[in-house]
Amino acid sequence: MEIKFVKADTLKAKPDPSTLGFGKIFSDYMFMMDWNKETGWHDARIVPFGYLSIHPASTVLHYGSAIFEGLKAYRRADGKVQLFRPMENIRRMNNSAERLCLPHIPEEDALEIYTKFVDCEKDWTPSQEGTSLYLRPFMFGNDESLGVHAVHNATFIIIASPVGSYYKEGINPVKIMIEDEDVRAVRGGTGYAKCGGNYAASNRAGERAEQKGYSQVLWLDGVERKYIEEVGAMNVMFKINGEIVTPKLTGSILPGITRKSCIEVLKIEGYNVSERLLSLEELTKAMADGTLEEAWGCGTAAVVSPIGELCYKDHKYTINNGEIGPVTQHLYDTLTGIQWGKTEDKFGWTYMIG
Ligand SMILES: *Cc1c(COP(=O)(O)O)cnc(C)c1O
Repeated sequence: MEIKFVKADTLKAKPDPSTLGFGKIFSDYMFMMDWNKETGWHDARIVPFGYLSIHPASTVLHYGSAIFEGLKAYRRADGKVQLFRPMENIRRMNNSAERLCLPHIPEEDALEIYTKFVDCEKDWTPSQEGTSLYLRPFMFGNDESLGVHAVHNATFIIIASPVGSYYKEGINPVKIMIEDEDVRAVRGGTGYAKCGGNYAASNRAGERAEQKGYSQVLWLDGVERKYIEEVGAMNVMFKINGEIVTPKLTGSILPGITRKSCIEVLKIEGYNVSERLLSLEELTKAMADGTLEEAWGCGTAAVVSPIGELCYKDHKYTINNGEIGPVTQHLYDTLTGIQWGKTEDKFGWTYMIG
């Protein structure tokens, strides 16, 4: 695959790694390519990072045809840079694209693009504890017409942002509010696709939770508001009476790569792991009788995020004395060990860039 390179006149100074937040600073270059129905993907290029020029009638601005991915490049102790399970992101983006009638990118081409782009920007991968280079591949419908139909033109871009450690002050458990009004997704909808619209629809509940002093919401299913689905923009897991339970992928839940990795680690180590329906009733009962031992969210940004308190209709339940539990800690240590190349990768999950 040919990727044109347009050199930047000047390169930016790298930021002080101790001041990195999330997604505010961007690297020198971005990858771009365009698609149309007649010619397919074309004009693959790495160009200086900068503004886009978009037609005011562009599909994405009106009808929300937008999907994205999120993954990180990690700086290993030996100085090399690696990705974590990039093929999973590539496949998931193609599944999201299929749902939104956006074009598919052949897996081998996508991996070549990720590899060449990260190799170009690898100097932006910071090396301080917990830091990484966050990659944001995204695609949007870009027809210059207000007609509503499957897109005929699309653009795919990858941008890169050096990000700080998620846990600067140690892993502090978060307080979560169970949302029983708004829903994130419904079966048959776009819940399993990583699309921008799911986030737009989630913001109101997130705002309300924050006003009440909670950091995220726990989503219930959109049909009966009876089963647990996800927490904020993370998947969720519980340890109830020795059993690790995570909601099964019914179509309205995002199939997280961290979720999948946690399940694989725990299964290989002999834990009793179930992907099944978990009702709010079962969960509140386990919280009341003390059989809920641990709860945590999981996603690329935080890896795992322990839940110290759950609130449902003004009833507050403290979990594991508001402290991180042993399984949550173990998952954090195992996954971050593999991601930053500190422990042996027995699973073959890492992909070396160089
Ligand atoms: C991205 C995302 C996740 C986590 O997926 P990872 O692949 O583990 O990062 C979970 N839920 C939602 C809604 C997401 O968008």
